[in-house]
Amino acid sequence: MKKRPGFPANLDWGNEVPPPKTTMAVTKLLAPQKKAAAKPAPPVVSPTAMPTRRSKQVSAPVQLGMDSAAVRERMVRKLAEQGVEDALVLLAMGTVERHRFVDSALVNQAYEDTSLPIGLGQTISKPNVVARMLELLRQGRNLMIDGKLGRVLEIGTGCGYQAAVMAQVAKEVYSIERLRGLHERARENLRPLRIANVHLLFGDGMLGYPKGAPYAGIIAAAGGEAVPQAWVDQLAVGGRIVAPLVTQQGQQALVVIDKTPQGIQQQLLEAVHFVPLKSGVA
Ligand code: SAH
Repeated sequence: MKKRPGFPANLDWGNEVPPPKTTMAVTKLLAPQKKAAAKPAPPVVSPTAMPTRRSKQVSAPVQLGMDSAAVRERMVRKLAEQGVEDALVLLAMGTVERHRFVDSALVNQAYEDTSLPIGLGQTISKPNVVARMLELLRQGRNLMIDGKLGRVLEIGTGCGYQAAVMAQVAKEVYSIERLRGLHERARENLRPLRIANVHLLFGDGMLGYPKGAPYAGIIAAAGGEAVPQAWVDQLAVGGRIVAPLVTQQGQQALVVIDKTPQGIQQQLLEAVHFVPLKSGVA
C-alpha cells in the first residue's frame, strides 16, 4: 500500500498516546451491506439558499467584535505550530469566525483548541481536528478544480462551523445532520454569512446523499463502528473519506479511505474523540 505523507508528530494528544499507523483489511472497516428490504426514506433536502437578503440579521454573539481577527490569527499560528501545513486550510481557519457558531456563554473560548458543547449533547470539533481532517481530505489523490476540492459531503453538520470552513477549500459542500434542532441551528448560523456553496441537508448521513454523488471527498464528524458502504459507493474514483472510527480496542481513531482505480486503500491514523455516529433522524 502506498504510504501517505506523514502527519505531524507534534499534535496535541492530551493524555493519549497516538496508536501506531496500522493497516486493517478494509472489509473489517466497512459496514456489512444491508438488505434492501427496509429501505429508509432518502434524506430530506432542505435547500438552504445561502445567499439571502436577510444578511443584516446577526444571530451570533459579537462580543469579540473587531478583535476576533487577531484572536483567529493566533489560533492559526498555533495550528501551524502543531503541524498543519496546507495554506488554504490555514487561510480558511483564519477566515471563518468560530465564535459565531458557539453559545454566547462560550464565546471567549471559541478560539481555544478545544471542543465545545453546541446543544443536544453534541460538540463542535477542536480547531486542530477540523484543520487536520481537512488537510487529510485535500491530500487525497487530488480531485482538484482550480486548487480546490470539487464536491464534498460532510456527515454531521452540527453547528455548521466545519461546513463553513470546508466551503473555503471545496467548490461545493453538502452537509447532512440527523438532529433537526441542530440542522436548523446551523442554518441560522450560516445564513448571515451568505455562503453560496453550502447545502444543508436533514437526514441520516449513514446513507450518504446519493443525489450529490460522486464526491471528491467525504468527511464525518461522528464516529461509527464501521464506514458505511454507501459512503464508499458515493465516493468518486480518486476521492477520499476521512472519518473517525471505533477501533477493535474500543477507542476512536481517524481512518482515511482512498478509492483508487485499483480498489480501496485505507489507513488508520491517530486517536480522536468524536460523538457517536447514529442512524435515523430525531
Ligand atoms: N462538524 C460539526 C461537528 C458536529 S458533532 C461542527 O462543526 O459543529 C457531530 C454531529 O454529527 C452531531 O451533530 C450529530 O448529531 C451528527 N450525526 C451523528 N450521526 C449522524 C448521522 N447518521 N447523520 C447525520 N449526522 C449525524
